[in-house]
Amino acid sequence: MRAARLYRYDPEMREELKLEQVPDPEIRHPNEVIVRIVAAGLCRTDLHIIEGVWREILDPAGTLLPYTPGHENTGIVEAVGSAVTAVKPGDRVICHPLKSCGVCLACRMGEDMYCTNGRFPGLDSDGGFAEYLVTNERALVKLPEEVDLVEVAPLADAGLTAYRAAKRAARLVPPDGWAVVIGIGGLGHLALQVLRVLSAARLVAVDIAPQALERAKELGADYVLPGGPELVAQVRELTGGGAHVVLDFVGERGVEQQGWQMLRKGGTHLIIGYGGRLEIPTVQMIFQEMAVAGSLVGNYRELSELMDLAARGLVRVYVQRYRLEEINRAIDDFKHGRYFGRAVIVP
Ligand SMILES: [Zn+2]
Ligand SMILES: [Zn+2]
Repeated sequence: MRAARLYRYDPEMREELKLEQVPDPEIRHPNEVIVRIVAAGLCRTDLHIIEGVWREILDPAGTLLPYTPGHENTGIVEAVGSAVTAVKPGDRVICHPLKSCGVCLACRMGEDMYCTNGRFPGLDSDGGFAEYLVTNERALVKLPEEVDLVEVAPLADAGLTAYRAAKRAARLVPPDGWAVVIGIGGLGHLALQVLRVLSAARLVAVDIAPQALERAKELGADYVLPGGPELVAQVRELTGGGAHVVLDFVGERGVEQQGWQMLRKGGTHLIIGYGGRLEIPTVQMIFQEMAVAGSLVGNYRELSELMDLAARGLVRVYVQRYRLEEINRAIDDFKHGRYFGRAVIVP
């Protein structure tokens, strides 16, 4: 089969993925499933992988390369292991990003991302920038005919991450309260739609790009703000004392320090974007009784819920399609912000 493979980490990102012929994958465990890829979303994490940001965590022994990235996958079941009962060849599926074990305590609690024996195809093993992917039965959510497999591919990770954070935010903000979404890109534009569905709270969208703010209005934001050094003061004034919850999809370049400063007492700062460093005086944490929390992808239940919202047209993804041969152009377009929403690779 054809696959786009990474041969070398490069902080400057001059390195390109190499399109080549590799052996077709094989089922090695009775619970495994081979999925014929219909679409694979391109994620900022893929760029960070190429840059070597994840090297220490994913590849401490330096033995991972060459390998195939791609962790936002949809497709058609091609073959199943002898123990698989939940899916059969021909089923349309989206892949939860983690190939979780199912028997550890975290898996039994339903928190797939906490699995202590999980593998993450596309991060620590071969992923979906190829014609076929090996995952396991537990990772697969079956999709009905009306769901477009290309459009929903980014929901496997980007959408799921946005969904978990937005669902948590919807529980934290009262219907007459305020939620602020910072960064209306690949994840933020999805979080906004999920919040619109799950909460009656007033939604404030923040982005430095004017076209992102235009999209934010179409997707249900009540107010939009352009970001910048005045942002904290603007939010405090608009909300009459601060937001109940802030979702930060940027998490770097100083934005991470703005999130908690725009909370009202008892507010929560949810961190989804990453790269920066948070410094909060402990006395502020107490005086404001604030909470700061990270959010890690999402579990199987949350992916199922999100697929139901997508099937009913309540959440839609803006996608830009590229063929597998065009993957390096997609990466270049992503780096230079030449599209809104998410790029999807179609083999
Ligand atoms: Zn991702
Ligand atoms: Zn597990």
